[in-house]
Amino acid sequence: MVLGAGLAGSAVAASLAESGWLVEVLEAADKLGAGASGLPVGLAAPHVSPDDHVLSRITRWGVQATLARCEALTTIGKLSSDDWQASGVLEHRVKGKRSPPSGKALPTEGERWSTRASAKQLMAAGFALESPALWHAKAAWIRPQRLVEAQLATPGVHLRLACQVHRISYTDGLWSVWNDQGECLAQAPQVVLATAFDTAPLLQALATDAPGVYLPLNPLRGQISYGRMCDLPAPTRAALPRFPVNGHGSFISGVQQDGQECWFVGSTFERDCLEAPVRSADHAANHTRLNTLLPHLTESMAAAFVPEAVQGWAGLRCTLPDRMPAVGPVDALRWPGLSVCTGMGARGLSLSVLCAELITASLEGQTLPLPPELAKHLLAERFLAKKLR
Ligand SMILES: Cc1cc2nc3c(=O)[nH]c(=O)nc-3n(C[C@H](O)[C@H](O)[C@H](O)COP(=O)(O)OP(=O)(O)OC[C@H]3O[C@@H](n4cnc5c(N)ncnc54)[C@H](O)[C@@H]3O)c2cc1C
Repeated sequence: MVLGAGLAGSAVAASLAESGWLVEVLEAADKLGAGASGLPVGLAAPHVSPDDHVLSRITRWGVQATLARCEALTTIGKLSSDDWQASGVLEHRVKGKRSPPSGKALPTEGERWSTRASAKQLMAAGFALESPALWHAKAAWIRPQRLVEAQLATPGVHLRLACQVHRISYTDGLWSVWNDQGECLAQAPQVVLATAFDTAPLLQALATDAPGVYLPLNPLRGQISYGRMCDLPAPTRAALPRFPVNGHGSFISGVQQDGQECWFVGSTFERDCLEAPVRSADHAANHTRLNTLLPHLTESMAAAFVPEAVQGWAGLRCTLPDRMPAVGPVDALRWPGLSVCTGMGARGLSLSVLCAELITASLEGQTLPLPPELAKHLLAERFLAKKLR
């Protein structure tokens, strides 16, 4: 059983089903996209840091896994170029941004991933030739909902909507999940919680004899602003970069939303907020963000940000203090057969497929999809010793 049908749950279901498992996915909402994976479009791109930090190395493995999955789903006709494109991403190294590794810190494969942006790429994005920018060749824009749907369509995966799990229990080698009426919704020897924030209360309710916080999950609200390309004046439309630009939020254009080609600017970051309404103040913040990211577009796109024109989507990223997801068993001795796949933060597109492959490889006793010294940073059991009472 997999609980939750966002990027994490659908990736786990697809990975397990590809290995021959029969997977039942239970989703609380009556349609897909209820959580953060309802995001209209996002980027899968590598993280860079001067010391080639663990997170940077893990994102490269993650982006590789996501791109491979998208390519495989495209080959079998479940995704198309309207759903994702391995476009490459230009990263504007705005002032104060951490630089990529250089000299000895540069990983041998680093050059293949991220190079200084060429004159052609800079010009295509409307930047001056001396502008500091990187080109991430292995990077993509992806419509998360299309990836979720395509992964859930893997043979062996059975999706059940409108199944809010209130409680889970373990008896005689079998996990049972219950709704708030006390009805058993499903049973299986293995259960994966991919329920974002709900993962914490589900674990707490399970641990009646050892209460505490098993996973310190936190909300990080974010909003993107978007609009129809056809509403922009022709010269502004012609000046938009044809590939995504990130570095201080992100700009993506030419992607379908509600049957129309749109542009997208995001995202805001707001801590300690448990609601995700769309706010006009956040549209203004995204317009200001554009001024740093792509200054030459600020003025010409000002009219697109007025309240009557701009549209928005907001959601809650589910984060952990060390910015890494939590994957696999929470406490394998106490709860055999129980795993989690959550805490994707702002990188669900870059990390969810890798995390799913990690769970599958562990259950199957196969080679891990990334080096063990990196995999250990993703394991949910790292929080066990730090459990808060
Ligand atoms: C504004 C914004 C911009 C972003 N941009 C990017 C980006 O560019 N690139 C990127 O990689 N990531 C981005 N992200 C992050 C990305 O959206 C998330 O990391 C990802 O969607 C998390 O997926 P998930 O499956 O863990 O969670 P969710 O999508 O929230 O899925 C959890 C699912 O579990 C279900 N559920 C919860 N409780 C229960 C229960 N008790 N029983 C049954 N089902 C339950 C929920 O209904 C939900 O469908 C962005 C996020 C935001 C908010």
